[in-house]
Amino acid sequence: MSYADVVIETRSDNVDNFFTYETGDLPGLRVGSKVIVPFAQERAKRSGYVFALHEELQPELEGKRIRRIEAVCEEESLTAEAIEVCRWMRRRCYCRYIDAARCFAPAGKKPKREEAPESSGGKGSVGALADVLTDSANGALAAAPLPVPAPPLTLEQRRAAGRIVSAMEAGRSEVFLLRGVTGSGKTEVYLAAAEQALKQGRRTIMLVPEISLTHQTVERFVARFGAERIAVLHSALTQNERYREWIRIRGGSVDIVIGARSAVFAPFEKLGLLILDEEHEGTYKSDMSPKYDAVEVAVKRAKAAGAVAVLGSATPSIVSSYRARQGLYRELVLTKRYNTTPLPNLTVVDMRKELAGGNKSVFSEALYAAMLDAFAARKQVLLFLNRRGWSSFVSCPHCGYVMRCERCNISLTYHKSDNRAVCHFCGESRAVPEACPSCGAEGLRYYGLGTEQVEERTKEAFPERTVARMDLDSTKTKGSGKKILRDFSAGRTDILVGTQMIAKGLDFDNVAVVGVISADITLNIPDFKSPERTFQLITQVAGRAGRREERGSVYVQTCLPEHYAIEAARSHDYEGFYRSELYFRETLAYPPYTDVIQITVFSEREDVCAGGAEAARRAILARLGEAERPRLLGPRPAPIAKAGADYRYHLYLKAEAARRRVYEAALSELKRKINTDSAAGYRIMIDVNPFSLM
Ligand code: ADP
Ligand code: ZN
Repeated sequence: MSYADVVIETRSDNVDNFFTYETGDLPGLRVGSKVIVPFAQERAKRSGYVFALHEELQPELEGKRIRRIEAVCEEESLTAEAIEVCRWMRRRCYCRYIDAARCFAPAGKKPKREEAPESSGGKGSVGALADVLTDSANGALAAAPLPVPAPPLTLEQRRAAGRIVSAMEAGRSEVFLLRGVTGSGKTEVYLAAAEQALKQGRRTIMLVPEISLTHQTVERFVARFGAERIAVLHSALTQNERYREWIRIRGGSVDIVIGARSAVFAPFEKLGLLILDEEHEGTYKSDMSPKYDAVEVAVKRAKAAGAVAVLGSATPSIVSSYRARQGLYRELVLTKRYNTTPLPNLTVVDMRKELAGGNKSVFSEALYAAMLDAFAARKQVLLFLNRRGWSSFVSCPHCGYVMRCERCNISLTYHKSDNRAVCHFCGESRAVPEACPSCGAEGLRYYGLGTEQVEERTKEAFPERTVARMDLDSTKTKGSGKKILRDFSAGRTDILVGTQMIAKGLDFDNVAVVGVISADITLNIPDFKSPERTFQLITQVAGRAGRREERGSVYVQTCLPEHYAIEAARSHDYEGFYRSELYFRETLAYPPYTDVIQITVFSEREDVCAGGAEAARRAILARLGEAERPRLLGPRPAPIAKAGADYRYHLYLKAEAARRRVYEAALSELKRKINTDSAAGYRIMIDVNPFSLM
């Protein structure tokens, strides 16, 4: 007799174990099979996934009635590789087996009835692909052209591609970290690797941080390999389209999947290659449960599938570089831009000196002069500020009162266009009162700059020039973002003001000057990753300047000019930044030396929440030992102290990487215990290396 351990589809949070069934003699049953089984007393059947097969019955089940699997649903089955990754995800992401399996399962629903005619095979998705392509900023390439041949590679590209290709040829499962300055031609290396995968009859997953900002990459893949065997997974797909794409990928009529974070779960068999472009981007970390990191999932999948992973970036994350230098990844470096245009010249401007010299405007003397020069030469300018709205907070100059969101307790940002103070977390907004609600004094004041204000000040300073703004607010309506970019590309706009939306990936021909209005906004966010993000962001925006023949110039305005992140960005010194940053991380026990585990306790009652957080702290110390005390921080109210109806408290554990398994066992046990105790009145959420500490 043989038996299968099955993970059942269920909504109940309490069910997270294997149920054993007899396999009978169902054909095709294997690890990963989707099966239909009888469950509990219910008459209705449940579906589930086979996680293991064995010949012997577990001793504790001897003599019990073991029911039989009723059917296999081959079309929606997973691979054994996916199941292996699910087992890992359950530990790493503190989720249930079924939550992990759902990531791999068909996204969307099986269409109730087949809708003629586009349901047949690839047509629908080629249609979807055409949508993405015509949506492109430049409006280019609606129909896929015939495959174009690869251009001759540069020496550096050839070397990098050669090492990846040899690993693939030899069937070695390796992870490559491809560090290449902006414009060095990383995409050509990805394309060469994908070509090798095709040659070996294996499949490729290509991840990009955000599909809407990466038309150019998609277009290059389509131009090289043709649209027929490429699937693009983007957020505009309907549920039915999503399901169809899944079946198409699973069924083997697709060789390359391009998509954002969740495409890392593309249900390929014969997976040969996973590419993550801009691997340092925060969008690879899921902010919904399961809170996986797509970089980690990709590395895990590569190992389980015997595939190669390529992590590419101009500014790899500190964690990835560290892993490369520990020998876990192979590092490949592209030092030169393809067209050999030198990297832009970066000038750091000390805004304290500007202020002392009487300049209170948003433009330093140097940036202002450079902008005038650019316009005289018929060039364009990008102005970057990582905060939308008019001002960052509204406060009373007499008593220090700050307007805060009543639900989230974070300070409100003033938006002049709607004349309201808005919570950037939950979207709630209020009118700004005439008098201070706290002391009654007249006139609240607006502090800190946002893009809305930069736009207005720019129009005042350069009345002859056309100015546009690109941020979450100005791109709310469909197509507006595309129009802003198209106008700028076509030269109809002289100056584009924007948030990090304009920092990434965009390739403009005519930008001579990039101004970072204030680098301090990112630098001053209370998060250990702020220097890393600042370095990455400055490097990325700087990469938008002078992409063609002429060298561009970049002005970085800051009150902290001597900060190592800014100094390293100024001199394009990744190595220097890496060394300084690693020193701080080690001293303060942050990643890569530890995992920062965020434990959020939430409850509708504040006292219950605070009490629960304290109980969780004691339970953790009891389980892990008193030695953990210095590594366990909190509890304290979360910066976003209330989300929806729930109060939130945070605990942080700096978990030593070497003892990962010990933490995983202790914390998952704690989570299960609390979350299944209906009398507790509070629940916990665990996020390993969260994107944000809010
Ligand atoms: P990165 O992704 O590293 O910033 P890209 O791959 O976008 O750089 O390359 C920058 C530009 O150089 C692109 O316009 C690309 O088409 C061009 N390019 C890169 N490598 C080659 C090559 N070997 N032959 C021809 N053009 C190339
Ligand atoms: Zn709010």
